[in-house]
Amino acid sequence: MIDRSLSDPDLQGTIRVISAAATHVGHVRATNEDSVLNAPPIYLVADGMGGHNAGEVASAIAVEEFEKLTIQENVTVEQLGEALRTAAERISELGGEAQLGAGTTVAVLATMVLDGIGYWVVLNLGDSRVYRLSKDIFEQVTVDHSVVQELMDRGELTSDEARVHPYRHMVTRALGAGPEADPDYWLIPAETGDRMLVCSDGLTGEVEDASIERALRSPRDVRTLSEDLVQLALDGGGRDNVSVVVVEAVEVVGLAETSAGTPASAPSPHEESEVDEDTLPRPTPGEGSSGR
Ligand code: MN
Repeated sequence: MIDRSLSDPDLQGTIRVISAAATHVGHVRATNEDSVLNAPPIYLVADGMGGHNAGEVASAIAVEEFEKLTIQENVTVEQLGEALRTAAERISELGGEAQLGAGTTVAVLATMVLDGIGYWVVLNLGDSRVYRLSKDIFEQVTVDHSVVQELMDRGELTSDEARVHPYRHMVTRALGAGPEADPDYWLIPAETGDRMLVCSDGLTGEVEDASIERALRSPRDVRTLSEDLVQLALDGGGRDNVSVVVVEAVEVVGLAETSAGTPASAPSPHEESEVDEDTLPRPTPGEGSSGR
């Protein structure tokens, strides 16, 4: 049924999705510094940081720059990179109180058709995440850019220790706020039925991966599912702003045979790093954390 002849110039791959977003200030914070974009073909969560309203401003800038791309049907990886650079510049140029440590994480999911094949494109900076449920496989696509993730990667920290580590809130990469703004990218062939989750650490700090997986596997529609996930975080304590975008592929034509991703940086299953308070930039940029 599916014509995989990539040399056929008439083959037009398509990826049709339904999506829903939800965000909540939580039970503790006075303001919601997360910003969310749910506008085809781009789905994004940004978790702002910095004093006064700096975090809100920074995460809103990230959304604004990516929103400019949503008027087009198909975006390119280059355009995503350009949106990141522009957002980083704007954040670094903020003046006055909004400049105080202004920065934001960003986790971006975009749908893209390349050579007739529908893809998920994922990029991240910081500890906001993208998860994927595809057929029977649930996985965290992104790897956090955080101090505790680096320590866990070196085998110096268990996920239990990470949860109470003094640096558990420090991100090693972000937009603005000092650390590197060098994102990781993944290009993953999409399959009909895939469910993707983009979320801030207000979800993953309160809700175990197993519960997130259970929610994604439920037959609930994406709207209800996004609200369920936020409610799980609130029930878990709601100590941080929580934001989610759920995107489901209802039709992918021009499907690639491979089920494995083609990562720009190999994603690997790894333990959760739990963060339950303020996200902070690491004070001094780290050494070669990109590993490239
Ligand atoms: Mn957060």
